[in-house]
Amino acid sequence: MDVVENFIDGKLAHASNDESHSIYNPATGEVIKEVYYANANEVEAAIQAAEKAFKTWKNVTPLKRARVLFKFKELLEKHSEELANIITSEHGKVLEDARGEILRAIELVEYMCGIPNLLKGNYSQNVGTGIDCYTIRQPLGVCVGITPFNYPVMISCWMFVSAIACGNTFVLKPSEKDPSAPILLAQLMQKAGLPNGVFNVVNGDKRVVEQLITHNEVKAVSCVGSSTVSEIVYKTAIEHGKRAHTFGSGKNHCVVMPNCEIDEAVKAVMGAAYGSAGERCMAVSVAVAVGDETADLMIKKIQEKIPNLKVGSGKESGMDMGPLISKEHWERVKSYIDLGVNEGAKLIIDGRDAKTHGQKQGFFMGPSLFDKVQPNMRIYQEEIFGPVLEIVRVKNLDEAIDLINQHTFGNGTAIFTNSGEAARRFADEVQVGMVGINVPTPVPVAYHAFGGWKRSLFGDIQMHGPESIMFYTKSKSITTHWPREAQDTKYHMPSQ
Ligand code: NAD
Repeated sequence: MDVVENFIDGKLAHASNDESHSIYNPATGEVIKEVYYANANEVEAAIQAAEKAFKTWKNVTPLKRARVLFKFKELLEKHSEELANIITSEHGKVLEDARGEILRAIELVEYMCGIPNLLKGNYSQNVGTGIDCYTIRQPLGVCVGITPFNYPVMISCWMFVSAIACGNTFVLKPSEKDPSAPILLAQLMQKAGLPNGVFNVVNGDKRVVEQLITHNEVKAVSCVGSSTVSEIVYKTAIEHGKRAHTFGSGKNHCVVMPNCEIDEAVKAVMGAAYGSAGERCMAVSVAVAVGDETADLMIKKIQEKIPNLKVGSGKESGMDMGPLISKEHWERVKSYIDLGVNEGAKLIIDGRDAKTHGQKQGFFMGPSLFDKVQPNMRIYQEEIFGPVLEIVRVKNLDEAIDLINQHTFGNGTAIFTNSGEAARRFADEVQVGMVGINVPTPVPVAYHAFGGWKRSLFGDIQMHGPESIMFYTKSKSITTHWPREAQDTKYHMPSQ
């Protein structure tokens, strides 16, 4: 049985622990690898390696750090098929989707290649007579990242590439469900010229996370996962004096206005709801239909299209949807569909008995569609994280905005409309971190901030773009005076 190693101080390191997790190919339901969790000494070794490397890496010029990133980008491109295959084997998403994830990671690397410019401080001359003031941004030290299963390459890169570009060193704890791709990323970073110890990967679960986020040498914690876990990680990290931002669950609403291009809206909503089997933090899970006519038309069009949606192994070309990540998750999604029926929502399309293209085993779930979902139902309030789309009917845009604003989560949202006025009002009033106007999955590009509001983000600073530079550095202002002549001692508050 293949084993997934840790990566500590520039080399693969075998975990000497018995605790492990089986990695499945979700398309076949078979165990393909085993990941052994790092024990306390191994986690300590990763932190110590990062701490030691920080002493020199922080002084490597931003230009030289950028050169490592340029090389890393080339290697990501060269190995993108290998990485995509690893993602599809362990996560299940279709290859095209895995390639898209890698492209999003590469875009972040490209942005961070501009680190010399991004780290430029500012300078004010003559803030007093003969006195200048300048502000610089300095790295924090050892940073850690905890990632979810659904983007093993993209979210890992968003964290460690940004932190390392800023002069920090990093310890990553990937999801135990699909940890192989991050290990290849660590090897590629090393091949790109990254010194030993700057980037380390340790495998594990809650125990490893706790050790990392409470360790004295760790200065900052980034985490992406369900809101329950993100909240625990955030609170523990800040109690231990760390800078932290942790990203949580979503329940993303897409408002469909009566005046929109309905065919475009239906195509977009279906792609955003069922793509990646709904296992995206930005997946659309609620379509808010404005008016009964809009709802009925949407349902009719979705029903017409569903038979053409292909569910099967992500490695087979032409598939739209792969399997869910695990048997447990399959059971969880199924239990939500059962619940929806019991709660009185109208199940129009039932994905529980998925018809797949040639796959007999595996964790496949077909697309489901609920109508007449009410805000007091648990299937509306909670994140399902599967291919389940819920239609909530409202009378007008105000009701749609109120509905979204009252939801616990505020990760992403979208509106489909032909009215500039409606779009502008929606963007202005909606209490959500990422908004799409006729764009169903508004994941911002690498040079804009990513992150939700409300229980979708704990902490103040979002991720990637300029926000990551802020998160992974602290600012220092230096006031300088080079007097021509010696001055008398002054005892009052300096004012220039
Ligand atoms: P998860 O919360 O189960 O696990 C996330 C990470 O936390 C994993 O590395 C896991 O090992 C670790 N972990 C699990 N339990 C822990 C505990 N008690 N204490 C400390 N660490 C713990 O999430 P998942 O199932 O891997 O990923 C899916 C979730 O992630 C969904 O809720 C999804 O919405 C969310 N997500 C959010 C974003 C975002 O940007 N907001 C992006 C991607 C995924």
